[in-house]
Amino acid sequence: MHVFTPAQISVRDTAAEAARELSKIIIDIDRQTGHSKQWWEGLHLLENAGLLRLHIPKEKGGEGADTMSLVLAQEEIAKVDGGYANIVSHEACAYAIFTHCQDEALRERAIKSMAEGSLTCIAITEPDTGADLAQMKTTAVADGDGWLISGHKRVASLAGAAGMYLVFALTDPSLGTRGISAFVVDAGTPGLSVGEADELMGFRQLPPADVFFDNVRVTRSQLLGEIGGAFKLFAQALNLGRLGGGTQALGVAQGAFEHALAYAKKRHTFGKPLIEHQAIQFSLADMATQIEASRALVYQVARWMDETDDTTSREAAKLCAMVKMQASDMAMKVTIDAVQVFGAYGNYRENHVERLMRDAKVTQLVDGPNELMKMRIGHALIRGV
Ligand SMILES: Cc1cc2nc3c(=O)[nH]c(=O)nc-3n(C[C@H](O)[C@H](O)[C@H](O)COP(=O)(O)OP(=O)(O)OC[C@H]3O[C@@H](n4cnc5c(N)ncnc54)[C@H](O)[C@@H]3O)c2cc1C
Repeated sequence: MHVFTPAQISVRDTAAEAARELSKIIIDIDRQTGHSKQWWEGLHLLENAGLLRLHIPKEKGGEGADTMSLVLAQEEIAKVDGGYANIVSHEACAYAIFTHCQDEALRERAIKSMAEGSLTCIAITEPDTGADLAQMKTTAVADGDGWLISGHKRVASLAGAAGMYLVFALTDPSLGTRGISAFVVDAGTPGLSVGEADELMGFRQLPPADVFFDNVRVTRSQLLGEIGGAFKLFAQALNLGRLGGGTQALGVAQGAFEHALAYAKKRHTFGKPLIEHQAIQFSLADMATQIEASRALVYQVARWMDETDDTTSREAAKLCAMVKMQASDMAMKVTIDAVQVFGAYGNYRENHVERLMRDAKVTQLVDGPNELMKMRIGHALIRGV
């Protein structure tokens, strides 16, 4: 039903192959916490397939892929694991933010190391700052030709594994969100430290940790965008992230559906395969239809972004919020139903569906919880977008 270019098909097939390899080790990785040796093995599968540099232009060492390819790659990986699929999206968002680094030498160094596999940590959330960024406490106080950053970040995905940190801090606390600036800080910079990896329910392969900044010195060359312009930068990169969140949900649902369909064909009760019982057949029919509807929305918005080159307008923000909310709610329902098809065995790790159900719940939270998606869509409706 969907037609792709040869380049898009090539990215999709490469990702599918990486996902097949990942599926052989994912249950073991999922049992562990943080950046275990096996977690790195899984990550290297993505890296070797070029999936962590998809959005970086070819002349800068990346794959020069379009948004549709980025979506297809995430969908394939998410059929096996939502957390790893999110890393593909996370790196594309970090790249989008890095392009705003005004210092050419730093920008080129950062993009080169990303293309070579260095991960990025985006540190915004704090103990008292979630959806409401106006509550941010981390400060960047002017000092000579630069700033001293002090504060405590939470839920920072890839902290401890990342080579670079994009940190958001108040350069002018009196201006609220318009007083937040973004800086690039290398891992290992004096004053930057990372806590233990957090223990999670879903998206366990996207381990977050606390990050502490104790008078971390940054120069003007480390500033991203304008002073006080971080909120705008973040909001723009987040649209791509939300399209990604919806795509991960789509892949997670498709993965769970495929497991449930295969099981329903081979498991027999009352003298026939499960799938020949009408209740199970109807449940699978509902799942397949809901997934296909979400896929149509995800692909349509990805194509629209490629055709218009618009990732930043209010229209883009509205569409990406719709994708994230619709697909993640769909994935939650589909994965619960997939577990049900397995009966007691849905609760067993070896059947994969329980992990995908845990991941589906996190797609409703990641890249902004769905309440924030409704607020974003509501604001667009008020403005007539
Ligand atoms: C998988 C994952 C990865 C993440 N990675 C990162 C990362 O790399 N870096 C980073 O900085 N942060 C990261 N986060 C944190 C994320 O950005 C925050 O979860 C988000 O900002 C929301 O904050 P909160 O979860 O503290 O919810 P809160 O802001 O405390 O809100 C709690 C609940 O109330 C709802 N709510 C809040 N305000 C309203 C309102 N006005 N009306 C209605 N409902 C409301 C929210 O939707 C939510 O359901 C990640 C989160 C997840 C789930």
